[in-house]
Amino acid sequence: MPDYGPVPAASVGPALNADGYFVGRVEGNLSSVTDGYYQAMFLATREGVVLVDAPPTIGRNLLRAIDDVTRVTGTPGQVTHLIYSHSHADHIGAASLWGKNVERIGHTETRRLLRRAGDPNRPAPTTTFDDRMVLHVGEERLELAHHGPNHAPDNIFVYALRQKTLMLVDVIYPGWAPFKNLAVSQDIPGWIRAHYIAMSYPWRTLVGGHLGHLGRRADGETQQ
Ligand SMILES: [Zn+2]
Repeated sequence: MPDYGPVPAASVGPALNADGYFVGRVEGNLSSVTDGYYQAMFLATREGVVLVDAPPTIGRNLLRAIDDVTRVTGTPGQVTHLIYSHSHADHIGAASLWGKNVERIGHTETRRLLRRAGDPNRPAPTTTFDDRMVLHVGEERLELAHHGPNHAPDNIFVYALRQKTLMLVDVIYPGWAPFKNLAVSQDIPGWIRAHYIAMSYPWRTLVGGHLGHLGRRADGETQQ
């Protein structure tokens, strides 16, 4: 008798390659990359790559995944912008891989928390915003918004307009339940409210930051 039942087929994410990652097209030139536990996403624009999050478990495989995609699209493989969903090391602990020649974008509170942490693996954002920011790179547009504290005080919503894709980390867990203590969230009423705010965006795909799966509307409705 096993201690645990098997993971249901519907919860298993995409198969990983020999290097331990999967990179797949979300929509158009927007791709997501996962190691089965964590997720990042990136836009391959004609002016360079915009990466959202850099989980240390994926680490250098992020470079490989970006190479895989930009070799096919023929767009520059250099990461020009790195957006932080929030300050937690498990989602951005590989952020130092891109050195000084990248614009680091995050919430004002993310910068405060990272300056305090003094972690060389998580350089503080160079560009910050309080409520909203629209990032235009090449032909693309990303809408960043802070709707108040939820999982973390600085957790932001990143919406790719043309791709109808929302990245919101540590709130919705497609095919799974949130891990212990509601994903170790700090503001529970805010975390619950974040589900309703997420569903108010017209997204078709959700990048939740964890596990292998991308989310569909039904995943958000289920967890809501
Ligand atoms: Zn977190």
